[in-house]
Amino acid sequence: MTPLDTLALSRGTVDRLTEKRAERAWLDAAWTDPGTRVLVVSDGQALARIDDEHAALRFVPPAEAPAGTRFLLGRDDADGVVYFGVSAPLPDPPPPGTRPAALREIGTLLGDRDAGLLTHAVALANWHDTHTHCPVDGTPTVPGPGGHVTVCPKDGTEHFPRTDPAVIMLVTDPDDRCLLARNAAWPGRRVSILAGFVDPGESAEQAVIREVAEETQIKVTNVRYVGSQPWPMPRSLMLGFRAEAPAGQAIVVDREEIAEAYWFSRDELLAAIRAREIALPPPVSIARQIIEQWYGAPLPSTWSDPPARR
Ligand SMILES: [Zn+2]
Repeated sequence: MTPLDTLALSRGTVDRLTEKRAERAWLDAAWTDPGTRVLVVSDGQALARIDDEHAALRFVPPAEAPAGTRFLLGRDDADGVVYFGVSAPLPDPPPPGTRPAALREIGTLLGDRDAGLLTHAVALANWHDTHTHCPVDGTPTVPGPGGHVTVCPKDGTEHFPRTDPAVIMLVTDPDDRCLLARNAAWPGRRVSILAGFVDPGESAEQAVIREVAEETQIKVTNVRYVGSQPWPMPRSLMLGFRAEAPAGQAIVVDREEIAEAYWFSRDELLAAIRAREIALPPPVSIARQIIEQWYGAPLPSTWSDPPARR
């Protein structure tokens, strides 16, 4: 099994310059450099130029950036350009040729650098938007110079961005059939592999075993890590796994979180997709990439495809 190396949101190329985040003089100089580029993000969206096959983010020089919480994204070592993000409303109307777009839509259309910058910026902006006060005493916090920490002016405590680990796993049976399930909250034909958040004090492998058992009553073994992708909607890190279900187990879904779940051979999966009985998650998701890794080739269909005519 080869590692997953095509994850859309795991492609960032810029140097994050973590050592510069506390250097106010360096940050101030970078912000006054007209060659610096700023990505404005709002509610998980940024402006981009988009066609059928490509997308490119719209950056502005610091002098044109709106007021808002600012954070250092890093430097592209290929050309030395420093990138910042700013959490602020997007211009309305957008400049000609651009429109707001989110990672789910353009994550696979962006180049490596832009995919990484938008993922990083959305994750930080989401954190700033929702973590505005000190959890100890409720005082409004103040962002640090690089925007990667906030400080309480009353008790001096420092607070750092949060990431919620989640596991997502493709389970196979002894015939190498894969387990796909429909979440009760999803419309009709959408199916995916199982997933869930890691509990406090739990390992990722333990979470895989627990979540599969909770959702289908299948007990899995041989849990293997296959790769990870940030999913800042709003703050997850998706940890991908494969796991095996020994023979002789019946699927029993909880019917609250999971409405139905079935084993699919490769042939059955392709037939069900072509008959439009099921639809797979989009290519931007780690779920889709893990399913295609098991299948052995790209698959047609996404959740956005129109249903079959009846
Ligand atoms: Zn405080």
